Amino acid sequence: MNLDELIRPNVRAMKPYASARDEFQGTAQVMLDANENSLGSVGGQAFNRYPDPLQRAVKAEVARLKQVGPGQIFLGNGSDEAIDLLLRLTCVPARDSILILPPTYGMYEVAANLNDVAIERVPLTADFQLSDDAITKVLASPAKLVFVCSPNNPTGNLLHAAAVERILRGFPGLVVVDEAYSDFAAAPSWTSRLAEFENLVVLQTFSKAWGLAGLRLGMAFASPALIGYLNKIKPPYNVSETTQQHALAGLADTTGFEQMRRALLAGREQLAAALPAVGIVEHVFPSDANFLLVRFRPDATAVYEYLLGRGIVVRNRTTQPGCAGCLRLTVGTPAENQQLLAALHQYPG
Ligand SMILES: *Cc1c(COP(=O)(O)O)cnc(C)c1O
Repeated sequence: MNLDELIRPNVRAMKPYASARDEFQGTAQVMLDANENSLGSVGGQAFNRYPDPLQRAVKAEVARLKQVGPGQIFLGNGSDEAIDLLLRLTCVPARDSILILPPTYGMYEVAANLNDVAIERVPLTADFQLSDDAITKVLASPAKLVFVCSPNNPTGNLLHAAAVERILRGFPGLVVVDEAYSDFAAAPSWTSRLAEFENLVVLQTFSKAWGLAGLRLGMAFASPALIGYLNKIKPPYNVSETTQQHALAGLADTTGFEQMRRALLAGREQLAAALPAVGIVEHVFPSDANFLLVRFRPDATAVYEYLLGRGIVVRNRTTQPGCAGCLRLTVGTPAENQQLLAALHQYPG
């Protein structure tokens, strides 16, 4: 793969915005370069200075935790920002395409539609894996990007590593492995393979296992050259000061992280063990995430509506390819999981 050739010509040619904080780093006694308000902030807390555009302090901690170099990390306003930037970095509107593997996360499609980028779909098998035939199609695709979601949303399963590796070796564009749920998975992250594959981009997020969905912080890991391109096109101050400060606090709380992660895994195993005993449950799909895809009979949408009436909201995935009859159940607190099970057992149908 030649990275420069994958990048849109206008992006290759453009000069990035040089912010005040790019041109001068650190602090001086008198800071009059960024049109900030030196008097202070409204609302009590001080946010009158622009944040670090490259989030160096947060990246240093993420680098330590993930065993990668700081230059291999991009941080964004959720991983959704990274998805959009990767698309805009590589795909010329009304000309280029991305490839997705349905059923999968909806944002890839939305970002492509927004950017007037075509979508090629290669469906997963009935057990949500890549067939040989599907891999052949992926390798022959002219798409600039393929999104490989593993563990996959909404199905919960990991894609077989051998299949992902064949794509990494043979696909001529970027391979974006979305690992939003990797903290719940019994498999090593693809970040450990970055040195081997220059076309690999790994997405992770603080929204799931870290419990910081409201903060909006996502991570992309890739070669320093690709991260350089993402930095070139990102909004200059894309991660707020609050987010950076709170991310540092979160990253320091490894005990809290580990406790929640273990509790959610235990909740998942309890739900997965208890659900098959519910009469209306036809199948519980294996999960390496913090949710379970469950097939209900005879009418999953009726079950969805019934749960809503009981004050329990789950995700109706019945219209997704390969997910007929399926609801996606997020693992909650032990009490919430019990409430869900009790309600399902009491289903009047
Ligand atoms: C939840 C989720 C994300 C996270 O998105 P953020 O913008 O970081 O909150 C990314 N990818 C998948 C597949 C998800 O399910």
